[in-house]
Amino acid sequence: MKIIIHGGFFSESGTNQEVKLSKQESLKKIAQQGYDYLQTHSAAETVVYTVALLEDDPLFNAGTGSQIQSDGCIRLSASLMDGKTHKFSGVINVEEVKNPIYIAQMLQSAEDRVLSGKGAQQYARENGFEYYNPEIPQRRQEYETKLNNSIRLGTVGCVALDAEGNLAAATSTGGKGFEIPGRVSDSATAAGNYANGFAAVSCTGVGEDITSGGLATKIVTRVTDGMSLQQATEKTLTEMKPFDGFAGIIALTANGDVHYADTHPYMVWAAYDNGVKIFN
Ligand code: ASP
Repeated sequence: MKIIIHGGFFSESGTNQEVKLSKQESLKKIAQQGYDYLQTHSAAETVVYTVALLEDDPLFNAGTGSQIQSDGCIRLSASLMDGKTHKFSGVINVEEVKNPIYIAQMLQSAEDRVLSGKGAQQYARENGFEYYNPEIPQRRQEYETKLNNSIRLGTVGCVALDAEGNLAAATSTGGKGFEIPGRVSDSATAAGNYANGFAAVSCTGVGEDITSGGLATKIVTRVTDGMSLQQATEKTLTEMKPFDGFAGIIALTANGDVHYADTHPYMVWAAYDNGVKIFN
């Protein structure tokens, strides 16, 4: 059994060192909680449980503590890909909910599996997701001073391999910060979050680059066709160089390879590999 999680990127300024350390501490704790949960749950259940813990931690840009868009609103996107059933589900730009990843989970059994905006919110309300304001004062302050114009990424993701050999991936984000309302993140697309019976990948970084690079699906496809996870990741990230793509990935294969990579420093991540902790 294996699990790997990420908490997005952090910028390298002095003030961010403290944030980086807190994020790493939090990731270690949540990776442990996720790994414990995986002992008695499927990969798909575990990635949802773990991403919800990350959404609830205000240090990360997902759920509570998400970044604010240019019109002052927070809009959340999250998706789940179950490698066993080969189903993708997600929500795009949903407002005033606590855990978008739980809505994505509920949509696994729906006929229409990716919902956006008001439709996603209405579906959530009808299914018991109550009003919740994910804003924290610090994000409002950053928004007021337009700090969001600088890169401050912190999307979250989780990939797991369960006892039965099934894979799943989940990703959740508040977006890139200060974006035009209506902008679509990669996190609830197959470019940002993908899994099948061979491999599972969750991405973070600049959504436009991740989508342009078809990142998660490409890596998973290459592994499915016989490439090693490391080679598949290297090749796919190299293909982003011509457009200076900014991205990071965490990944697992059914054979048990655990991998992470980023195009720019530094993505924060943590993993448990058959009980052995690996942290950056
Ligand atoms: N990928 C996310 C987005 O572009 C941002 C991030 O990963 O931090 O919406």
